[in-house]
Amino acid sequence: MKERAHDHTSRQNPRRAGRAEDAPCVEALDHTIQRLENGEITAIEAIDALLSEEYATRETRRIDVALRTSKLLPIKTLESFDFSFQPSLDRERIAALAQLDFVRRAEVVHFLGPPGTGKSHLATALGVAAVKAGRQVYRASLADLIDALAKAERQGQLAEKIRFYARASLLIVDEIGYLPISRGGANLFFQLVNARYEKGAMILTSNRGFAEWGEVFGDPVVATALLDRLLHHAVVVQIEGASYRLRAHADLIPEHVRANARITPPPPQKRRARPPKNEVANP
Ligand code: ADP
Ligand code: MG
Repeated sequence: MKERAHDHTSRQNPRRAGRAEDAPCVEALDHTIQRLENGEITAIEAIDALLSEEYATRETRRIDVALRTSKLLPIKTLESFDFSFQPSLDRERIAALAQLDFVRRAEVVHFLGPPGTGKSHLATALGVAAVKAGRQVYRASLADLIDALAKAERQGQLAEKIRFYARASLLIVDEIGYLPISRGGANLFFQLVNARYEKGAMILTSNRGFAEWGEVFGDPVVATALLDRLLHHAVVVQIEGASYRLRAHADLIPEHVRANARITPPPPQKRRARPPKNEVANP
């Protein structure tokens, strides 16, 4: 177990030696007893101070454990998000999402945008806010989620696994669109989405527009059924901007890569391999 900075207290006082996390409590106890003995506070005030300290320590411990089991580490917060870097984002809209009404209403939030624009950061930050508010959260990439469902299915435990993912008040499915999903995988994801539909909130992040979901999930029928549920009670936040990861090297990125990174609205028809000869590029 990692030692904390305060651990010296338990070493100094072997009678109180215990878990490293208890050290701040012990310190607070010493401090409060001292103030009581000095007549600075009454017994009632001492009890009040100790109960508050105990509550704060338990709450910190609960949040630490919940963040780990929710797979929300490394932690991201809205405070550490630089909104000035992403002017297409409406700060007020994100702040409103952080009030977590969408969790209570079992809605779906989509973060769409090119790589590095902060989709996972914002999804995690909302997840962290939900954990702090006492909600059960679980985060996974779509690929990992489907792997876990496929493994459960092979072991004859699919129903339990779906129940496990359906239990969280907020399920964050990250990285939709980076890796192609097999038809079987898409079916498994559909079963999970169906189990959560109108019962539990979700946040989905994707670098692909909805029109490309047929391609992403390898089956237009399943993609349509997924979108039917995932867009019913949904908030779509589209981020159009540069990659925060590449901000220091933006001048080194070729223009066509930067331009391609932008999510385009649903294409009206299938992309052709090569434009016909008489097609003139827009000036
Ligand atoms: P995406 O999921 O859109 O590919 P991430 O959310 O993973 O992008 O962001 C990539 C990295 O850049 C992460 O470390 C994230 O915390 C950071 N980041 C992205 N956008 C911002 C921002 N506007 N302010 C601060 N950090 C950011
Ligand atoms: Mg991401």
